[in-house]
Amino acid sequence: MRVLIISDIHANLTALDTVLNDVGIVDEVWCLGDIVGYGPDPNECINRIRSLPNLVCVLGNHDAAVLGWIPLDAFHQDARHAIYWTRSVLTKENLEWLAELPERRVVGDFTLVHGSPRNPIWEYLLDPVSAAQNFAYFDTDFCLIGHTHIPLQFSFVSADYPARWTQPMVRRQISLRPRTMINPGSVGQPRDHDPRAAYAILETDERLWLARRVIYDIESVQRRILNAELPARHATRLSDGW
Ligand code: ZN
Repeated sequence: MRVLIISDIHANLTALDTVLNDVGIVDEVWCLGDIVGYGPDPNECINRIRSLPNLVCVLGNHDAAVLGWIPLDAFHQDARHAIYWTRSVLTKENLEWLAELPERRVVGDFTLVHGSPRNPIWEYLLDPVSAAQNFAYFDTDFCLIGHTHIPLQFSFVSADYPARWTQPMVRRQISLRPRTMINPGSVGQPRDHDPRAAYAILETDERLWLARRVIYDIESVQRRILNAELPARHATRLSDGW
């Protein structure tokens, strides 16, 4: 099965549509959360995601915040502003759809969460010591994570040794070994200083992972962010990939 892996769309419809056009034909789409927050197109992005056949999706921290499930003082002021705005513009149907998303899904050999298997909503997996501790929190061979907006792979070494980490190279297919956690990066707000939208293609039978990047029309998104009177920083950071 060929699966499109996406995460952290953050209400950036231009980036999402560019990825959907770029990927070609897939059997399923797995989305690792944070469809909304920061960006100007929350309803449009949820509508697009909802329309995808064979979708598997989990809840992100921004999705949960818009639903009022986590305290907003945990967010930076600019992020909080966008959460209030998103809450005010989302349709009732789309709020209800977000509210149905689970924090964790298991599909075959793969566990899907937004943050980490230990704390699906909040934990950022960026360092090999925290990563090593997280292998105890999922039973499948593989765990797919988002949240940091950085494409990164962690492989289990031993229970008391830091995980081995690597950054998957774009367009170089890698073979996933059991006990791996891997992050496709962010569609709508990359933070690895590469402004191109990030996603991955997973061949589930062969356990092959292909990291991809695609250029999209960032300026049109920046204009919509400013027109919606969202914080200007949400616009400028898209050009920097940060
Ligand atoms: Zn995010």
